[in-house]
Amino acid sequence: MEHAIGLDIGGSKIAGAAFDEKGRELAQIARPIPDSYEDFLETCRVVVWQLEQAHGQADSIGVCAPYADANVCANLPFLVGKNLRRDLEILFSRSVPFGNDANCAALAEALEGAGKNHRAVFGLIMGTGVGGGFVLNGQVWAGTNGLCGEIGHMALPYYEESDGERVPCGCGQTGCIEKLIAGAALARLYQTLTGREADAKQIAEQARRGDADALRVLDRYYTIVAKAMIAVLHSFDPDIITVSGGLNSLPGLYEEVPKRWGRYAVCKNPATKFVPATFGATAGVRGAALLGKNG
Ligand SMILES: [Zn+2]
Repeated sequence: MEHAIGLDIGGSKIAGAAFDEKGRELAQIARPIPDSYEDFLETCRVVVWQLEQAHGQADSIGVCAPYADANVCANLPFLVGKNLRRDLEILFSRSVPFGNDANCAALAEALEGAGKNHRAVFGLIMGTGVGGGFVLNGQVWAGTNGLCGEIGHMALPYYEESDGERVPCGCGQTGCIEKLIAGAALARLYQTLTGREADAKQIAEQARRGDADALRVLDRYYTIVAKAMIAVLHSFDPDIITVSGGLNSLPGLYEEVPKRWGRYAVCKNPATKFVPATFGATAGVRGAALLGKNG
């Protein structure tokens, strides 16, 4: 049987999953990330070995990692200066393509999820952070520098003071989209407009119950998200934007944002679809497996 393995290197664990040729998940395994590079490679080997023991040798292996450059990861200092991709290719005696988590998630959505049967798919992640990946004709376009889809670190188009304070971003800039639409920004907007505190989840719950303050905050917030989507529409002009991350189930998100983006887009009625992603936390490992298949 043909099958593909994906490895997802997270902040605290290595997850591995095997998928059959129809994209059905055969098995999933997770192991904590060890403290040294040698043990890290050994953990990757064991995860793949266990999946292959159960399902036979995989036709391909792909890796999803939280960074564009396989050699730099602030969370895993022992990777600095190492050539992880080369070492995994030696370990598994085959080519092992890498993708960052946004690109892997976008690929999973484009080939097997909400973006299926669309040529240009932008996989947006909106949660604690904001980012995205771009898939064109079934292939991830990571970009020359691996920067493609990093919309979280672009300035918000058509910014007004009522969009919230432009606070400094971890990337070194001020005014980044991530700092104006991520979960913390929604909570800050709520506090500014109501004088009370609530996190994104509580705001969503209140809005579902019809709370006027929460609805007013979301009304303002969706205009900010619509402006942020102009960065996507004007740069990528995708057929569809699939939304994953902790903010992807806010009430009204999929109706309200497209309703507003025509105000800012150069064309007045963009036809781009704006829909929830199909896969949640497993999108990365699924996309990694697809990356291996296509790579
Ligand atoms: Zn930034």
